[in-house]
Amino acid sequence: MMQKKKTPAPRTAIPGSRISCTRLLFFAACGLFVLALLSLTVAAADVPAPLPRVHILATGGTIAGAAQNSTDLTGYRPGTIGIESLIASVPELSGAAEVTGEQVCNINSDDITPALWLDLAGRANRILALPGTDGIVVTHGTDTLEETAYFLDLTVKSDKPVVVTGAMRPATALSADGPLNLLSAVQLAGSREAKEKGVLVLLNGEINTARDTTKTSTQSTGAFRSPDFGPLGYMVDGRPQIYRLPVQNPTTGPAFNVTGISALPRVDIVATYPGMDAAAIDAFVQAGTEGLIVTGMGNGEYPAAIVPALANASGRGIPVVVASRTGSGITTLHDSRFIAAGTLSPQKARILLMLALTETHDRDQIAEIFTRY
Ligand code: ASP
Repeated sequence: MMQKKKTPAPRTAIPGSRISCTRLLFFAACGLFVLALLSLTVAAADVPAPLPRVHILATGGTIAGAAQNSTDLTGYRPGTIGIESLIASVPELSGAAEVTGEQVCNINSDDITPALWLDLAGRANRILALPGTDGIVVTHGTDTLEETAYFLDLTVKSDKPVVVTGAMRPATALSADGPLNLLSAVQLAGSREAKEKGVLVLLNGEINTARDTTKTSTQSTGAFRSPDFGPLGYMVDGRPQIYRLPVQNPTTGPAFNVTGISALPRVDIVATYPGMDAAAIDAFVQAGTEGLIVTGMGNGEYPAAIVPALANASGRGIPVVVASRTGSGITTLHDSRFIAAGTLSPQKARILLMLALTETHDRDQIAEIFTRY
């Protein structure tokens, strides 16, 4: 008798329920996992990123200047207010960085000396080497700010930001520009955008390189310009926006090591003008100058009357570098005994020659240095 083929029992609800339970458990576990992840993300978003640690080296200038009245924009004393008061006067700094400060000096920047440049470079190198520092701001009078900034550019070795700032109006003035310049400089020094850019100059929301920028106006708050190359970028609501990068950036590459150097070689600047004679050049040589910068006319030219004195200086091993009084453009060479400043202004060429002379007195090596920096 043929046995009736057993029809498979219909699936009961029990095994089906078991599968559903396993799935349910699986989905529940997944859900919990996703929830946990989400809450972790939300918690992470709630924890503010640590503030950058920015150290201020204060040297004085108009940013620390004080006058009798808020309307006194020129009759004031630069280098009057201390760094602690400057920091306290800008409460917004506490939202931008963990700010510390030290008073290097408190003077009119017309009185800055090469000894102070060496001191500043030493401090900056030491402080930037500390893991607890993310960037440095130097507050400075605007008259010689560009020289100090370029000196630091050539002597500070770090990829961390160094920003030099100042102000055109004293701290007591109506519409003083110092507080915002200080805040912007701290924001820039604490930013990743400012890393590996060399020393930067920040005033009036404009970010310039130390090498290229110069003070172009006696009183305008927008006095700092880079006539040949323009700014690197701008500060926008506290964030830097950088649009171009410097190629001649020695901060991370080879620069001058001034550790252990207590004095810089004397280098003087000779102005040129129609009808001049060699009196100034002879006097500088007599005074023991080690290098001369000629602020030439046009593309680095000068009256024939001073050529014998310049040739005499260069023949004695005193390098003669020719720059231009025009304020922009590249200066090229007319006499192979001398050296061309390229796009450096006379005052920047002086800084570079002082540093070059700490390494060599050879004319060709110095000329090569002038093409590099
Ligand atoms: N004479 C002042 C100085 O350079 C000018 C300024 O800071 O704007 O210290």
